[in-house]
Amino acid sequence: MVESAALAAREILTGLHAVMASRGSPQDKLDRVVDIIADAMESEVCSIYVLKEGHLELFATHGLNRDAVHKTRLEMGEGLVGTIAEQMLILNLEEASRHPQFAFRPETGEEHFHSFAGVPIVRRETPIGVLTVQHEDSRKYLDVEIEALQTVAMVLSELLASAGFADGTKGRARDTGPQQLAGLKLVTGMARGRAVFHQPKVTVEHTVAEDIEAERARVYSAFRKMREQIDNNIRDAEFGVGGEHHEILETYKMFAYDEGWSRRINEAIDSGLTAEAAIERVQQRTRARMQEIDDPLLKERMHDLEDLSNRLLRIVSGRVGTAASQGLQEDAILIARNLGPAELLDYDKRRLKGIILQEGSLTAHVTIVARAMGVPMVGKIEDIRHITAEGDEILLDGDHATVTVRPEARTRDDFDQRMETTQARRAEFAANVKKPAETTDGQKVELMVNAGLAEDADHLDAVGAEGIGLFRTEFQFLVAATLPGRESQYKLYKTVLGAAGDKPVVFRTIDIGGDKALPYLDEKDEAENPAMGWRALRLSLDRKALMKAQARALIEAAAGKHLKVMFPMVSEPWEYEEARALFEDQIDWLRGQKRFLPTVIEYGAMLEVPALAEMLDQLLPRLDFLSIGTNDLTQFLFAADRGDPRLADRYDWLSPAILRFLKRIIDQCNAAGTPVRICGEMGGRTLEAMALIGMGLRRFSITPAAMGPIKAMIRSLDAGQAAAQMDELLANPPRDMRRTLAGWAKQNGVILD
Ligand code: PEP
Ligand code: MG
Repeated sequence: MVESAALAAREILTGLHAVMASRGSPQDKLDRVVDIIADAMESEVCSIYVLKEGHLELFATHGLNRDAVHKTRLEMGEGLVGTIAEQMLILNLEEASRHPQFAFRPETGEEHFHSFAGVPIVRRETPIGVLTVQHEDSRKYLDVEIEALQTVAMVLSELLASAGFADGTKGRARDTGPQQLAGLKLVTGMARGRAVFHQPKVTVEHTVAEDIEAERARVYSAFRKMREQIDNNIRDAEFGVGGEHHEILETYKMFAYDEGWSRRINEAIDSGLTAEAAIERVQQRTRARMQEIDDPLLKERMHDLEDLSNRLLRIVSGRVGTAASQGLQEDAILIARNLGPAELLDYDKRRLKGIILQEGSLTAHVTIVARAMGVPMVGKIEDIRHITAEGDEILLDGDHATVTVRPEARTRDDFDQRMETTQARRAEFAANVKKPAETTDGQKVELMVNAGLAEDADHLDAVGAEGIGLFRTEFQFLVAATLPGRESQYKLYKTVLGAAGDKPVVFRTIDIGGDKALPYLDEKDEAENPAMGWRALRLSLDRKALMKAQARALIEAAAGKHLKVMFPMVSEPWEYEEARALFEDQIDWLRGQKRFLPTVIEYGAMLEVPALAEMLDQLLPRLDFLSIGTNDLTQFLFAADRGDPRLADRYDWLSPAILRFLKRIIDQCNAAGTPVRICGEMGGRTLEAMALIGMGLRRFSITPAAMGPIKAMIRSLDAGQAAAQMDELLANPPRDMRRTLAGWAKQNGVILD
């Protein structure tokens, strides 16, 4: 029985070391390798499959029918072996034939064997083969045995690569023609530049250690250097202390000093691996764990760890530094599997034009940082690192989430033209920044921005915003590793109010739960449809301590100032009342303590749940303002999940149903004299905003990038004419409202983007 992963692997590695150093053909070596592994693991079968010409070919076996060698072939995704390779996963099965992917190959004679375990053999993050063991008895392999197999798989990857056996090991096969790829929109904007790989690819060349103590010393010194780098990075970060970025970097630091991580690397070295191989081995394990985790936030944390692991690997292999440390020589489009926030901050902002991630998600730390830096970013382009070579020309369109690699001249010209137009537009818009948002017939429109980061408040003047109409306080919760305490909330709100100066800021109390789940708030029984689940105000009212802390932080931060608070997802008036009462209790208490209080407090509700629209007569007299969250509202009106890409284009914000619904609310608010604002994405689209102005809406809170186009639209619009047109269209809706409205805008000289 094998006692530990280290021992098991070490025993095998010692054997492999001798094999690798010996003469003989690569095939001979593989034949000996399977014997060694089978022996050490007391396993009846050990086989190696190699990816060759697109198939997984049985290359060597101990225990299966030898005649099947070089004959048995499986497609990627076929059978257990194909599944392991395709999905780069580990299988450990007591009864192989019960697995749904099991494919019986009679020529191998494997019918006697019940248990099965297999691990992928990976090179440069691409599967190049599979290593399997099988047993006659039905039993599960121990974790230590699986660990040993994985370690061996690393060594095999070196052996296969040096023999040039597997596909892709003789240099990556890549398409050299133009390619267009579509991904996930993370940060908007257009960019053009040369491909730069964030990590000049470090491929682990030697996996088996000659001298374990020497390897240990190398890792030790690499850890020291890496921690030093991170500490310096935090010190030098351009972002002010106290902002979210600081918290992100602190989390990052926590990982850098994580003892568990360095211990695992040391264990891998104990098993006989070189320092590089040990780091990669632990990284692979982390990656595998990451794939099992369903929680997006926890996944982000794991990305931080991966980011650090890459850094360590580069330090230890002497290929110090990411592309950032070598300096960007020209306009660059950065390519990475994923990127840590600290790594992004390493780059020269003048040269960094765009970012493409193989992974990436909207709530990732790095996305938040890139947005704050104004660098367009597209995510979820899985093949990017295979298709692109360093230095390739790339066109990145963050608005449409597309990437063109090695574009043809015509595509490039088109792109340049569009980019020029966008830039010219931007310059025009910039000239408008100081001009009022006023229609040609003298109707004033209030334009505020949506925000969520401390830095966002710094740019209000630059974008010509009158304030922040929606401050998503949950962002702070989303980027933190643990629940932000009252003190850190207070600091953030105070910074934001300070930066906004005299301009108003509407703080929305936390809208968490649903798709914005937090790992540290246990929500064990998550509903099937979290958007309609226990989220936002519903959660806050059940977790009063959480809301009280936020109320206190907000009230104290706004001492001597005007505080505007609004509650998300109010479904019935009593929820609003209860939330407001909670705030008022806090005020009373603070007053009793003779604390300095805000001069005025205004309370608002978000209208996101259609039911609330039926109760406005009751609610409006109690409100200081209403804010319509069309992102949620429309998904509930149409019963269409806002996160489902298949429904993304199915229903239109300009559909008569939505417009009529909104018109009723706007009319009712206007009649009651309650200010009403729109803060969903809809308000940031020119045609939609034009319709809303025609329907009597005068207050908008939009994404900052939309400020220019929206203001230009407003300044070219006659609100009176628009109102007459909207009345007519809502009474007798045309078949295609969008087209009709666009036609009307064109006829009337309204500037749309
Ligand atoms: C909305 O739902 O329209 C809204 C503004 O809130 P969020 O997008 O944060 O859910
Ligand atoms: Mg919402």
